[in-house]
Amino acid sequence: LNLPPCAIVIFGASGDLTARKLFPALFSLHRSGHFPESFVILGCSRSELDDDQFRARMREAVERSGDFERQAWETMAPRLYYQQVSYEDAAGYAALAARLDDIDRVQGTRGNRLFYLAVPPTLYETIAACLGETGLAVEHGESFSRIVVEKPFGHDLRSAQALDAILHRSFGEPQVFRIDHYLAKETVQNILMFRFANAIFEPVWNRNHIDYISVIAAENLGVEHRAGYYDKAGVLRDMFQNHMMQLLALAAMDAPTCFHADRVRDEKVRLYRGLKPFEVADEFKDLVLGQYGPGMIDGKHVVAYRDEKGVDPRSLTPTFAMIRAFVDNWRWKGVPFFLTSGKRLARKASRIVVQFKDVPHSMLHEVAQERLEANQLVFGIYPDEVIHMSFMAKLPAPRLCLRPVVMHYGFDDAEPGPRLEAYEKVLLDCILGDHMLFWRQDGVEQTWGFLTPILEMCETCGELERHLHSYPAGSWGPERAVALHPGFARDVSMKTSEGEA
Ligand code: NAP
Repeated sequence: LNLPPCAIVIFGASGDLTARKLFPALFSLHRSGHFPESFVILGCSRSELDDDQFRARMREAVERSGDFERQAWETMAPRLYYQQVSYEDAAGYAALAARLDDIDRVQGTRGNRLFYLAVPPTLYETIAACLGETGLAVEHGESFSRIVVEKPFGHDLRSAQALDAILHRSFGEPQVFRIDHYLAKETVQNILMFRFANAIFEPVWNRNHIDYISVIAAENLGVEHRAGYYDKAGVLRDMFQNHMMQLLALAAMDAPTCFHADRVRDEKVRLYRGLKPFEVADEFKDLVLGQYGPGMIDGKHVVAYRDEKGVDPRSLTPTFAMIRAFVDNWRWKGVPFFLTSGKRLARKASRIVVQFKDVPHSMLHEVAQERLEANQLVFGIYPDEVIHMSFMAKLPAPRLCLRPVVMHYGFDDAEPGPRLEAYEKVLLDCILGDHMLFWRQDGVEQTWGFLTPILEMCETCGELERHLHSYPAGSWGPERAVALHPGFARDVSMKTSEGEA
């Protein structure tokens, strides 16, 4: 990789995301030799720290991640700087600009800047506007100035548009990188390769052969240390506008004409445009919401959502949602897409399940001991990084009997060894200026356009309490979810030829 020299400026450098994800990823990139000689990380936040204190904090962060290596640290530490800023104070940005000019001279970063907003979303607009007013968004000659925004991109359609308007006052769309680190997972990137680098699947990838598609992102964790944020956001904002919609697009979009960021994003947006508007009049026909009660996770008792520290004890925030969505186009008309995500479920499991239709006529039905199971293709994203294809096979026996078996591809078996973590990949792509794995604003707006009526229905419906189903922590969610999608139990079990995993 031929990375240009660059100064990475992290706003919110004293925060959780920087310590847990960003800095360990930056260190790992440095350790594996991906960074050019001229790169610098400049931490910015309100906390009173000097360069050495910031270095000490970042060292602790890498040590905690379990990835520390002394030699790599010694070459990285002199490239770390810290600048105290008050996010809305213009004078602070002037000082930041002067510091960056100095760094350019000393470290040879050539005016290339990546501004990473690792701060609460309420500060995005202030920081973007101040960067613009100080001239830090301007690209001179060959140099670049980019801004990286973490989800959530607004909290509904209108706020997403307002955020975009502020970003675009100072930054052009090519300068903006809206991160969805899910997209950078190897298993997620592979979905398009699987679909479009093989000729045999595309002819059956439509309503004639596919019964339904299920997109699942299950977590067994609760809200952990992010209760303040989560209790306002809930599962629909936290998971659906971003990761779930991206997985849906990868599973259902048409083939782009070429593998270029904008052509791929065009096809995703075309798919989102086809999403059938949610029938709010028929409330909760296509939606199940849940909130976890007390239960057992890994043999340990865990408390109910409402008893978590930082959560309102009367909270009506959903921690589980299943949406039955439809895409109104020739390929998908009438095929349900079940999108399911929740916290404190039985185990962590992210996957896409493509359920094919039954055979049209079974001459084997009477002789087979089991019912014929229709083919199922599973893209395991995490933690099972696999592709499974189930099919019926004859058992070696004197009497004819059949059973479902599985063809298995495991990423680890095929490509053992170290890989780029998702945050490493997105950081590299920001520096390279490759937008392939990032949201474009029209996609953000289309997905908010689909979800906003659902959110409004939930938030204005005086009867939400009646529609919010409690489920025990450690289960697979409310029973009502199985009523909406009877295949859910099969989707969350991972069949192998040896049995169920
Ligand atoms: P955070 O720890 O709550 O905040 C980051 C820093 O911002 C804090 O250290 C603090 O630094 C400053 N800050 C916090 N609240 C502030 C306030 N009210 N006014 C002014 N400054 C404030 O946030 P985070 O968890 O790192 O998340 C950063 C961004 O990434 C958020 O947009 C979040 O949604 C997104 N995100 C986070 C995660 C994660 O795992 N943490 C995952 C995905 C996305 P100073 O006081 O020193 O200025």
